[in-house]
Amino acid sequence: MDNKAVWKYVISLILILGAAYLEAVILGVQNDTTSLLLFTGVIILVLRFLGRGPAIFALVVSVIVSFSSLLIRDGQLDWSLSPFLKLLLFILENAFIIYIIDSYIKQTNEGLLKEKRFKTLIEESSEAFMLIKLTGSIHYHNQAVQRITGYREEELERISVWELIQDDDLTTVKEHYFKVASHAGSAVTIQHRLKKADGSFIWVENAIANHLHNKSIQAIVMNFKDVTSRINHEQEMGDFLGIASHELKTPLTSLKAYTQVLEMRLKAENNPNTIQLVSKMDKQINRIIGMIFDLLDVTKLQSGIMYLKKETFQLNDLVSEVAESLGSVHQTHEIELVLDQNIPVRGDRTRISQVLVNLVTNGIKYSPGSNKLVVRTAIVDDMVTIYVKDFGIGISTFEIKNLFSRFYRVNSVRESYQGLGLGLYISNQIIEQHHGKMGVESEEEKGSIFWFRLPLSMTED
Ligand code: ADP
Repeated sequence: MDNKAVWKYVISLILILGAAYLEAVILGVQNDTTSLLLFTGVIILVLRFLGRGPAIFALVVSVIVSFSSLLIRDGQLDWSLSPFLKLLLFILENAFIIYIIDSYIKQTNEGLLKEKRFKTLIEESSEAFMLIKLTGSIHYHNQAVQRITGYREEELERISVWELIQDDDLTTVKEHYFKVASHAGSAVTIQHRLKKADGSFIWVENAIANHLHNKSIQAIVMNFKDVTSRINHEQEMGDFLGIASHELKTPLTSLKAYTQVLEMRLKAENNPNTIQLVSKMDKQINRIIGMIFDLLDVTKLQSGIMYLKKETFQLNDLVSEVAESLGSVHQTHEIELVLDQNIPVRGDRTRISQVLVNLVTNGIKYSPGSNKLVVRTAIVDDMVTIYVKDFGIGISTFEIKNLFSRFYRVNSVRESYQGLGLGLYISNQIIEQHHGKMGVESEEEKGSIFWFRLPLSMTED
């Protein structure tokens, strides 16, 4: 036991003896249970300020002191039951008090420690945290906010959060913010530019969450980090892909034209073996051209320049056209059509056809063991849904959530099926641009149903 601990026991001994002296000598209280109350008071004090060990020690000392006061009467031991019971009751009461107060102190200390730990974590986190009132005023911010934005503490207390958002992004951020604010418990993660104190801007990834109804927070939480270098890198990659794909497109288109001329000449010369080789070459050129178009579409989407050329067209006519042309190219599968009434749809016909072609070719590609595909349309309320059902390899539930991400390919197909993992990403973006929705239901080894839904009221651009 170290010196400090010994002192705690000494102090508790002095306090109990002091209390006994006060009662017996100064107040003249003897042989009375009221004297025990003072000991209880001292024990609680010792417990609060010196700890459990000294408190138990104080209890033991007070029992010894009370023993002589309660049980010894006129120099004789009082053998009647009542003083023994009083002393026993005193011991039990105090043991109980020590137990209850000690657990309470422990719980409070643990709570305080947890709170301190959590506060330090948030305070010193490299990510920025802000608690914002519905009006936009910053109620709390951690140190990272100052570091990332360059604003000083007192400036952040004065300004509203909107002053931190780059002007061009303000409307979008506000839209998301108020949408989240109007739904208890909802959250969204967005990327936008942030205006720093020196006028420069950075890109941030900002998670906005509604904790207005959470009693301990009662604010909108913004948690953001600087992602400028990642965005710049993506931008450079996109620029590179854009330039490279664009430059490759022209020579490849000429190459395709030469192959077709060559194929015609060989046909005229009746040279079947060489024709076969040339048509294989043509197929490979088509694949490369397809990939280049996908890469170009991705760069267009990334830089927000995929413009839709909207027109009104009959949906069933488009579906039949796609089914017919793909059916003649891929003779391994029969494409069955189950069409609802033919309705006019307004949108970019070429882009919607691109989506359907992608889903049908995927359906064929990923169902090598079957020979059938079903394309169905269904009109429900003011939406039309186009389903493409295959009976192929299917997709696990685990992989489904990533399918519409850029360059995502299911692990098990990487080796055996060629592709870039861009078709579904592009298709999904096209459908979103038409204010529609895309989805999939699938079961491994049974097949998949990919669908996209378009609003019928697409009469306005
Ligand atoms: P790609 O087919 O070029 O890889 P996609 O974006 O069209 O790219 O598809 C992404 C991934 O989704 C594919 O790699 C494949 O793993 C999976 N997938 C798409 N369609 C189907 C389907 N009909 N059945 C099973 N898996 C599919």
